[in-house]
Amino acid sequence: MSALLDELIELRHELHQYPEVSQQEEQTAQRILRWLNTCSPTQIIKNLGGHGLAAIFDSGKEGPSVLVRCELDALPIFEIGEPQWRSKHDGVGHLCGHDGHMSILAGLARKFSEYRPKQGRVILLFQPAEEDGAGARAVIADPKFSEIKPDYSFALHNLPGMALHEVGIKSGPLNFASEGLRIELSGKTSHASHPEDGISPAKAIATLIEKLPYLPQSLGKDESEALVTVVHANLGVNAFGVAPGDGMVMATLRSIDNALQSDLMAHAEELARQEANRNGLKIKLSHGEKFSDCTNDREAADIIRKSAKKAGRKITELTKPYRWSEDFGLFGSVSKSALFVLGSGENCPQLHNPDYDFPDELIESGMALFENIARDLCG
Ligand SMILES: [Zn+2]
Ligand SMILES: [Zn+2]
Repeated sequence: MSALLDELIELRHELHQYPEVSQQEEQTAQRILRWLNTCSPTQIIKNLGGHGLAAIFDSGKEGPSVLVRCELDALPIFEIGEPQWRSKHDGVGHLCGHDGHMSILAGLARKFSEYRPKQGRVILLFQPAEEDGAGARAVIADPKFSEIKPDYSFALHNLPGMALHEVGIKSGPLNFASEGLRIELSGKTSHASHPEDGISPAKAIATLIEKLPYLPQSLGKDESEALVTVVHANLGVNAFGVAPGDGMVMATLRSIDNALQSDLMAHAEELARQEANRNGLKIKLSHGEKFSDCTNDREAADIIRKSAKKAGRKITELTKPYRWSEDFGLFGSVSKSALFVLGSGENCPQLHNPDYDFPDELIESGMALFENIARDLCG
């Protein structure tokens, strides 16, 4: 075991040094493929929804198809931590721990290579583009996904602020749905001495910045159910002589479930159109980084609880869903799915912080938890 662990830690450090952002994970996928080739899976599916990879360990016998997912991508954030394995790609860093999640699945590949499942199939999915919300959708939409067709899907995310190795689980809603809304407004520039000759979006932008965050409240929802955050705005050009003719507001909308999210988005768009009309502006709306809600299936969540108990891990029942999003939620539309969090320690910097680094100790505990889950279903 410890020889394997040393190899997995080495792999994690290598992945950490060569991070790639969403949809550009080509080299990362190649490193993973080299590893998988040493594990003799029944089948490897390449270029799944982009640079995704799936290693299938098939028992050849009837039984459930159990998918375990990790992520290939890193973030466009400059790493300021100074581990020996610090990122060699300036401005890109594995600051969400996906390097660690990949090492956990690499370890599982070894385990299932040595002790094949007794029934059904275990599928280890290295999913691309989690951070921009496009990866799970692309994987599921890929015609090659029909060869996978999972009955159950599982994933974990490491979580700073929670005790090392502790497991957090919840049935039902776990992560909010989320989507970005870009509101572009255009009027007409004019000389700053004669603003009355132009059409300025300034008032509309000010109103939107003020009103958008209160939309959930107007729908009778508090921040435990929905949230609108204005993330960016601009207006006019950097010149004292010109009254502005163009402007933009960007906001991220989040809701506890997909239905409320659609409702919230419709209201946000309506508010933007009203403000455009009121001020005689043209409007262009566009969307980005859409994440489905992540809702844990009860049976799948119970399998995780059983696994954590068997591994002797402390289990925390989460009382509230997280407001951050996880594109893993989409696997709930094709299988019984559940995601759990694995504590990265109280003093670990938060995810996406520039000094974050995945704790290597979690590789072994993550592997044990997933192995218990998969063996519970596939033997
Ligand atoms: Zn992340
Ligand atoms: Zn992540």
